[in-house]
Amino acid sequence: MHKKLFIPGPTEVSHDVLLAQAREPMFGHRMAEFSELYHRIVRGLKELFETNAHTMVFTSSATGVMEGTIRNLVNRTYLSTVNGSFSERWFKIGVANGKEGDRIDVEWGKAIKPEMVADALKKKHYEAVLVTYNETSTGVMNPLKEIAAVVREISPDTLILVDAVSALGGAPVEIDEWGVDVIFASVQKCFALPPGLTVTFVSERAIEKAKKVENRGYYFDFLLMLKYWERNFQTPATPAISLMWALDHQIQKMKAETMERRYARHAEMASIARKWAIDRGFELFAEPGYESLTVTTVKNTREIDVPALNKELAVRGFAISNGYGKLKNKTFRIGHMGDLTVGDLKSLLANIDEIIGD
Ligand SMILES: *Cc1c(COP(=O)(O)O)cnc(C)c1O
Repeated sequence: MHKKLFIPGPTEVSHDVLLAQAREPMFGHRMAEFSELYHRIVRGLKELFETNAHTMVFTSSATGVMEGTIRNLVNRTYLSTVNGSFSERWFKIGVANGKEGDRIDVEWGKAIKPEMVADALKKKHYEAVLVTYNETSTGVMNPLKEIAAVVREISPDTLILVDAVSALGGAPVEIDEWGVDVIFASVQKCFALPPGLTVTFVSERAIEKAKKVENRGYYFDFLLMLKYWERNFQTPATPAISLMWALDHQIQKMKAETMERRYARHAEMASIARKWAIDRGFELFAEPGYESLTVTTVKNTREIDVPALNKELAVRGFAISNGYGKLKNKTFRIGHMGDLTVGDLKSLLANIDEIIGD
């Protein structure tokens, strides 16, 4: 039975997007058909996100690009900002690659503040600062614009690397204006595609830095990606061509909606989810003012049985998420991203009301 996905990834995929994967006969990635497809995708992404950054599509989930970003851009030192499980993962990836990472930690549920980053940068120079725009594990959005501004001010040559996996396409971001050097998202979150690709934007100064980094690896080497792009709008290895058909199709749909309306739809869903939680006697887990626009983490103050709720929701054709890791049963998460509508969300919440009683 079809369960509509209100989980923070993979998100619900529209039928027409699923079908786009079977759009046409397969072609080779060294054929003109592929170059046309990739070129159209890159142009479309630059247009949607209004950026001049180098645009790459990796055949990988985002974790691969989290690793690749560090391999490409950090010789030795980086500063991680950690307030949940995905930012923790990124810190560990750096350590696993032999880099020297320092970390700013705040309690889960709280946001990273620009002053914290400023203080750390005044004490020590870092090659890169790692920021998770939307901590999907806690439902907290970090103030990316303000953090990027302090990095630029205090340590102008430090790169700003951003995991926007559960934000890009759902929450506003101004890549060039904010001075972000790398920003990426796998497509199974706000892009509402099946998993398997990661859209990545890389600034010119990040490319210049990569030239001075050794052992960038091969599969995620930004310079190699760029070389194949510049040569013939190709990728070094065989990409997931059918997923790229779906991405191409979804870009057209996003253009038709416009990003402005897409962001407004996400903001409206977020405010409905928050209001519902509070009206029903729950609390929000996120620090006030930093609640996510794409996933609402509800503090389970009514001590409802979350697995039982999800079991009953499944019968009715819905799925939500339990809390992440140590937050299991203490919180639950409602993802409202991608192509889900206000109507979809209202119907989910009405069903939850019927099950737990309002
Ligand atoms: C989902 C998620 C990831 C992991 O992405 P994968 O595509 O599963 O590798 C990383 N960071 C954030 C913030 C996420 O939400």
